[in-house]
Amino acid sequence: MRILKIQTLRGPNYWSIRRHKLIVMRLDLENLAETPSNEIPGFYEGLVEALPSLEGHYCSPGCRGGFLMRVREGTMMGHIVEHVALELQELAGMHVGFGRTRETATPGIFQVVIEYLNEEAGRYAGRAAVRLCQSIADRGRYPKAELEQDIQDLKDFWRDSSLGPSTEAIVKEAEKRGIPWMQLSARFLIQLGYGVNQKRMQATMTDNTGILGVELACDKEATKRILAAAGAPVPRGTVINFLDDLEEAIEYVGGYPIVIKPLDGNHGRGITIDIRTWEEAEAAYEAARQVSRSIIVERYYVGRDHRVLVVNGKVVAVAERVPAHVVGNGRSSIAELIEETNQDPNRGEGHDNVLTKIELDRTSYQLLERQGYTLNSVPPKGTICYLRATANLSTGGSAVDRTDEIHPENLWLAQRVVKIIGLDIAGLDIVTTDISRPLREMDGVIVEVNAAPGFRMHVAPSLGIPRNVAGAVMDMLFPNEQSSRIPILSVTGTNGKTTTTRLLAHIYKQTGKVVGYTTTDGTYIGEYLVEAGDNTGPQSAHVILQDPTVEVAVLESARGGILRSGLGFEAANVGIVLNVAADHLGIGDIDTIEQLANLKSVVAEAVFPDGYAVLNADDRRVAAMAQKTKANVAYFTMNPDSELVRQHIQKGGVAAIYENGYLSIVKGDWTHRIERAENIPLTMGGRAPFMIANALAAALAAFVQNVTIEQIRAGLKTFRASVSQTPGRMNLFNLGNYHALVDYAHNPASYEALGSFVRNWNTGARIGVVGGPGDRRDEDFVTLGQLAADIFDYIIVKEDDDTRGRLRGSASELITKGITQVKPDARYEVIMDETAAINKALDTAPDNGLVVILPESVNRAIKLIKLRGLVKEEIQQN
Ligand code: ATP
Ligand code: ATP
Ligand code: MG
Ligand code: MG
Repeated sequence: MRILKIQTLRGPNYWSIRRHKLIVMRLDLENLAETPSNEIPGFYEGLVEALPSLEGHYCSPGCRGGFLMRVREGTMMGHIVEHVALELQELAGMHVGFGRTRETATPGIFQVVIEYLNEEAGRYAGRAAVRLCQSIADRGRYPKAELEQDIQDLKDFWRDSSLGPSTEAIVKEAEKRGIPWMQLSARFLIQLGYGVNQKRMQATMTDNTGILGVELACDKEATKRILAAAGAPVPRGTVINFLDDLEEAIEYVGGYPIVIKPLDGNHGRGITIDIRTWEEAEAAYEAARQVSRSIIVERYYVGRDHRVLVVNGKVVAVAERVPAHVVGNGRSSIAELIEETNQDPNRGEGHDNVLTKIELDRTSYQLLERQGYTLNSVPPKGTICYLRATANLSTGGSAVDRTDEIHPENLWLAQRVVKIIGLDIAGLDIVTTDISRPLREMDGVIVEVNAAPGFRMHVAPSLGIPRNVAGAVMDMLFPNEQSSRIPILSVTGTNGKTTTTRLLAHIYKQTGKVVGYTTTDGTYIGEYLVEAGDNTGPQSAHVILQDPTVEVAVLESARGGILRSGLGFEAANVGIVLNVAADHLGIGDIDTIEQLANLKSVVAEAVFPDGYAVLNADDRRVAAMAQKTKANVAYFTMNPDSELVRQHIQKGGVAAIYENGYLSIVKGDWTHRIERAENIPLTMGGRAPFMIANALAAALAAFVQNVTIEQIRAGLKTFRASVSQTPGRMNLFNLGNYHALVDYAHNPASYEALGSFVRNWNTGARIGVVGGPGDRRDEDFVTLGQLAADIFDYIIVKEDDDTRGRLRGSASELITKGITQVKPDARYEVIMDETAAINKALDTAPDNGLVVILPESVNRAIKLIKLRGLVKEEIQQN
């Protein structure tokens, strides 16, 4: 077997609207193409031995063991690879269930689709599955060591990709509330929501978190001074920079026991508490010096360690943090007890799990000594033996929820203190013997205020009720269900996408909103180009959705992007499908027009249930998408007598109709006439029917988004398809005696559309300069020839400079064949070079004639025309 290609999908796609994370592997079965699994000796046995857990796969029989039954009875290797790839991920702790396998039009080549949670793991699992299956087919087995390594690698990918417990809690809550989120390219920065309604977070800092508050909180001494001045209880202490000052400092705080810690440390680094002798104090000073230049010396307060979490002015959770410890059982040594405790699957490395493994440090031995133990002592049953002085979770501590126990006065104090420091999210470290009594009574203190506090101890305490602290953060960032989204309108179809996208963006601008839009020409925000290029894929969509100024997104969604990586958003408010016609067939395993329709249908289906699919009623494959989408449907039609649309309106639906020369919106009993086609420049005085269709689609999409008829009208009347706005799209030039039209039509349907305009040109002869990109099918060139023969009085056939792998002369020969098939006496000639062909046409253009150029390079064609001394670029014919 050989993997020909691996693609990673990240949004609604050809295979599934709901499952966004899919790997698509194009797999050549090679020698296994003819052999189902039952004909490979020992395959079934080898597979069961390697992966007995495949028993759990139901597959088509719909019961346990269903898939293995298929293997025994005989199924193709692509299908087996799919199940193995899913199972490998499952064994590494990633729960994935979705898979599909289809044979392509090329026999023996399959598309294997598997779900993933982590991209790298998904791709790895695909490759590993092929290796495993090949090995079993060749040798009857897959070495156990290999399999173990595969699973370990997959686990590593999964672990490395995890977001950290606090961020994880936040994005989970966002998903629960239907708030979109994405990771920005700067590590750890998370975007919640879209465009102008977005909020950003990094760990538990938000874009409401002020830099002054963070800096103050990070300076423990300044924090204490501010709090002391406000009458809040803080430890008595001082800051020193030299060992020489230590003795005096100890005296100042009232003598032993004391605490020594670095001025700007965190996570318990460099801290020693409960210091009782000068030797200990000196050692502690040195330890703190490793972390910070300045050193805090404080009185040691006896009590338990609490973390009080304040979000948006309210205490939302309280946890007691218990230092790392083991409990004696009368049999095991302390070393053995630690070993045993660390076996807990909840204990991981660093912050990646609910708890962290216990590790011993310098203070641990000191602490053991004080308790009268060594690592080899066997503590009596039930005795607690502390291993760390501080309770940070990251040093193996655990957490007990105390949210319901905190005294109201402490609650008030905590909220006031956080306000004084000036943080939207803060964690207070409070040492007191009993949090359910006021701090002042217990001689409790606020040790410090943390910016960006971890959520782990609150969302997953070792004991007590987990608290939804992320919910409080979402309430703050998106109050009163304020929308986190902006309207997304996505446009697809075989022809007219860019034109319709631009027009729709222009209509939306009439509402005064900042519109971001993407097209094959580039990405735009408002009036400005952000980036030129073919920007119809998900990355470009993200540029718009991540932009904090954008209020509305209009996104051209072309087949390439959907096929390669899926849509760049989960659902649109409006999905527009203009038409489906033969184009690019045979590329990317989309071989039939039905498959192409299924691909375009993604745009109609990935729409919110309360949104709209705007569909072309005159194109049966597009109209049929109404059955597949869960959204509302709105139709547009050039045919005022359309039966489909009549029934749709009768049932209360909305539609845009071209009737009696008007573009109109019809809803219920009412017809809202927007404007006469001839007053809409884009339609070239009403002579370009396909442009009327595009305008209907754009008007309808705006209408269902509550843009007013007046605004739609204003948009339609002021949108000009000039060269600068839409180069290569029906650009008409007046050269005095004759006209020239440059258009980038490049498939039969768009030639047809263009023809409908050219046929309306009845003042003089019509000359065509035609050709097409070399990667189209032979029959497409023949069709082009046939259509050209039908439309033009004289034809010059040319070829592109870049033949895209086609033999020079082949395209022109096929076009010529088409021409003569339809009109044996047609007048034509072949001039291979595009520049020469265009010049010949312009040189010989008759009075009042029209030269239509379908160029490879739009810019070059326009330059050649302008060299002739342009009278004017016409955008409107009346
Ligand atoms: P983290 O980043 O986890 O909040 P940190 O490194 O910022 O920790 P502190 O919060 O200042 O350090 O101290 C860590 C812990 O040490 C406190 O939560 C508390 O349990 C203990 N501690 C610190 N200062 C004192 C003190 N003066 N008296 C008693 N215990 C203290
Ligand atoms: P691409 O796939 O290159 O991005 P597109 O779908 O974005 O194309 P446009 O750039 O808007 O399409 O238009 C390209 C050409 O297609 C136009 O110049 C015109 O000849 C033709 N065309 C535009 N709209 C339609 C339509 N509704 N039906 C058929 N042809 C059309
Ligand atoms: Mg702290
Ligand atoms: Mg386009």
